[in-house]
Amino acid sequence: MILPRFDVLVPRTVDEACAMLAEHADKGVRILAGGTDLLVDLRRPIVAQHVPRCDGCPTHPEGKVVSTIECIPVDSDSLMAPSGSLRAALEDPLKASPAFLVSLHKLKQLRGIELLDDGGVRLGALTTITDIERSAEIREHWTALADGAASLGSPLVRNRGTLGGNIANARPAADTAVPTIALGGELTLQGLSGERQVPAKDFPRGPGLSIIKPDEILTQVRFPPPLPWSGSAYYKLANRKALEISTVGVAVWLALEEPDRPVEDVRVALGAVGPTPILAESVKEVLVGKVADEKILKKAAEAAAGDARPIDDHRGAAWYRVQMVELLTFRLLAGVLARIQDKK
Ligand SMILES: Cc1cc2nc3c(=O)[nH]c(=O)nc-3n(C[C@H](O)[C@H](O)[C@H](O)COP(=O)(O)OP(=O)(O)OC[C@H]3O[C@@H](n4cnc5c(N)ncnc54)[C@H](O)[C@@H]3O)c2cc1C
Repeated sequence: MILPRFDVLVPRTVDEACAMLAEHADKGVRILAGGTDLLVDLRRPIVAQHVPRCDGCPTHPEGKVVSTIECIPVDSDSLMAPSGSLRAALEDPLKASPAFLVSLHKLKQLRGIELLDDGGVRLGALTTITDIERSAEIREHWTALADGAASLGSPLVRNRGTLGGNIANARPAADTAVPTIALGGELTLQGLSGERQVPAKDFPRGPGLSIIKPDEILTQVRFPPPLPWSGSAYYKLANRKALEISTVGVAVWLALEEPDRPVEDVRVALGAVGPTPILAESVKEVLVGKVADEKILKKAAEAAAGDARPIDDHRGAAWYRVQMVELLTFRLLAGVLARIQDKK
């Protein structure tokens, strides 16, 4: 892997890190956490002497550049790169080739899982995906997040990758971002002018785009206390069981007033079926205030499918993704409901 030249800055405090981000913004600066997304993104476009060229495809009949995934028309025909990073390079050279990386690894205060007095939980942005997967508390009370962590990448990737990196990357298929939205997670963003709290659902703005400002760092994610008769789950549907980005990801959180009583609240979040993870708002309208039975759960699942906005790509057709959203939403809601009823 060939990387561009950059200097690594190592702040000792979050304030120092924010100051570094602000100071070097004009030369290009990126935050480095586990690096499992960032370093892949920064792979330098390779001079294509010995790589296959596009001989002319329906999209670019004259033949330009072939990437590992798709053909991309560019003015120069001397580059080859994965489509994401080449696009990033064309759209924002400072992002694709930053002069500085601000490494967060010395900021120990951004690590770890802390149970809060109100019954909620706080996870530092540098908490690894493995720590989340292995946490008994997260598995018990914020199950969808543990499910998402367990489905991400491989053990090696989970050991390095962080919750903050997975969310900040703002990818629509991110396996912990989707459950974070379903569980009502709240993000803390810290910048030069102080902290702000943002609901996780409002953070992403498009593939790789978010509301984060250039001098801001995602420092922690907080989840509200679990309600007495509530539960959650996440399922990742992918072309293989490991090291695969999801074709569809669904996370559900369901709370009943009491067992066999109406639904008090529900959140269903969808991954890989839109430019950002989607909170399927219409599910609430169908379920809240109703006693959850098979018929109403099927209607809720149909509503979730109606909120999906997928495209066709190499991982799956849009029509298939919509069907899978419906199927998975129904199965997950039914499974969580059964678990809640079992607590009686
Ligand atoms: C082989 C492989 C398989 C993978 N499989 C999956 C998968 O199945 N599912 C999945 O969701 N992802 C997958 N990923 C992507 C990646 O591992 C995760 O997104 C991971 O959680 C990213 O965390 P990180 O700490 O490595 O982030 P980094 O790579 O360090 O950073 C990612 C991005 O977020 C920014 N950033 C990082 N931390 C912060 C912060 N605290 N505040 C603000 N910005 C920040 C960085 O600047 C960068 O833009 C895979 C990656 C690899 C290499």
